Amino acid sequence: MAESSGVLAPGFTTDPYWWDAAPPETAREPLPEQTDVLVVGSGYCGLSAAAELARHGVDVTVVDAEDLGAGASTRSGGMVSSGQKLVIGGAIKGVDAARMGRLLEDSLSSYEHLKTLIREKELDADLGVFGRYFAAHVPRHYDRLRRQGELLAKHTGVTVHEIPKSRQDEITRTDYYHGGIVIDDYGGLHPAKYHRALRRLAAANGAILRSHAPVLKVGPAVDGLHEVETGRGRIKARQVFFGTNGYSDKASGFLHKKVVGVRSYQIATEPLPPVLIAEINTGRRMITDSRKELIYARPSPDGTRILFGSRPGMFTLPEREAAPRLHAMMIKVWPQLAGYRVTHCWSGKVGMTADKIAHMGRQDGIDFAIGCNGNGVALMTYLGHQSALKLLGRQNRSSAFDDPSFPKIPVPFYDGRPWFLPIVSGWYHLQDAIARRAAGL
Ligand SMILES: Cc1cc2nc3c(=O)[nH]c(=O)nc-3n(C[C@H](O)[C@H](O)[C@H](O)COP(=O)(O)OP(=O)(O)OC[C@H]3O[C@@H](n4cnc5c(N)ncnc54)[C@H](O)[C@@H]3O)c2cc1C
Repeated sequence: MAESSGVLAPGFTTDPYWWDAAPPETAREPLPEQTDVLVVGSGYCGLSAAAELARHGVDVTVVDAEDLGAGASTRSGGMVSSGQKLVIGGAIKGVDAARMGRLLEDSLSSYEHLKTLIREKELDADLGVFGRYFAAHVPRHYDRLRRQGELLAKHTGVTVHEIPKSRQDEITRTDYYHGGIVIDDYGGLHPAKYHRALRRLAAANGAILRSHAPVLKVGPAVDGLHEVETGRGRIKARQVFFGTNGYSDKASGFLHKKVVGVRSYQIATEPLPPVLIAEINTGRRMITDSRKELIYARPSPDGTRILFGSRPGMFTLPEREAAPRLHAMMIKVWPQLAGYRVTHCWSGKVGMTADKIAHMGRQDGIDFAIGCNGNGVALMTYLGHQSALKLLGRQNRSSAFDDPSFPKIPVPFYDGRPWFLPIVSGWYHLQDAIARRAAGL
């Protein structure tokens, strides 16, 4: 059995596993002096907006503070779905029925949009639709998951299977979970390959992509042009679109008080024997659970490793310290993995909003789409696309997520520095522990 000090495999790296196949890209060529639309942020949201704008002949420039794709988009779990985060993540609590219906409908559209985009543009993204298992981490969550599955089936037409604990081995061999639901329609992709494909699509359509050009300040429009200060000089833009999500900073003006970047961590195991992978995950499904501090796990797209993610503690940790903690969490769920080491541990920032819902819109003359709340592979791609259609005046109907008047993070004097996150995270860990203790586990 690997001791915690011996958990890191030789050659261990803090780069995402996904970057082995498709690393982010550097593009340090000079910025143009002027552009019609300046897209800030080169994640799925920004690239998707840029690809659509450029396809319609708009002169568009994407800038990122770091390498292209350095944000969450090449770091995620790559799980793709519709609506589940709104229902199972609890965002629709307190939302009236009409709005809930529209949000779920649009969320479904986001997943359909992603699949169509990948299919029609033949994007190299390793998309596989093998289903997702939502596991109950305490027995009483099983009934809650069943009810949530019914709601998703009703509103989004997905096929849901109830899996009592007695049949759980059909999905995954673990005693940690207490049954759950499988939704056949959900799947996973390779997030960094998908990002690379979107970069290529945007560039092929004519968008200019530039890395290492942090936007520092956006001036008000004068004679129809914003003067934008970047770390690489000034650029004039008719319109500015922020797709900065969990990485939003002061440059995004009002936005950075409405979104908090919360760090999530993942590890990749060394290659595993095929029989072990098949025992842990019988059908190449994505797996998430009902904890407050969610666990998410999946096989790598080539089926050789398990990728496992969560927040391993209250505080932000260096990845080297997070890796043994995540490994320990993983072997609590799947003790069979105890002898296998970790080759990669990385983290990225998820953009959380006070109402747990993503928002797009325009405020103070700036367009934006932010707030994935941990579920943005399909959704932020879609909201980037919808934002582009809106700028082009080509939207068929306005998106249910188009609602710029969303609440600020409800913390007095919040200035974009999330000092309160350890308290929230500690509270979540405590609630998870209390739930298991109350269930006698
Ligand atoms: C560890 C992890 C696991 C996840 N797992 C999943 C999953 O399984 N399924 C799912 O659907 N979602 C998942 N997500 C969420 C998903 O990755 C995000 O929702 C999505 O990638 C957001 O894309 P985006 O384009 O909005 O933002 P990002 O990809 O985060 O891009 C924002 C970019 O803006 C840039 N930026 C910020 N400020 C400035 C500035 N002032 N000037 C220039 N550039 C700036 C940043 O450098 C960054 O590159 C996960 C996220 C993380 C971190």
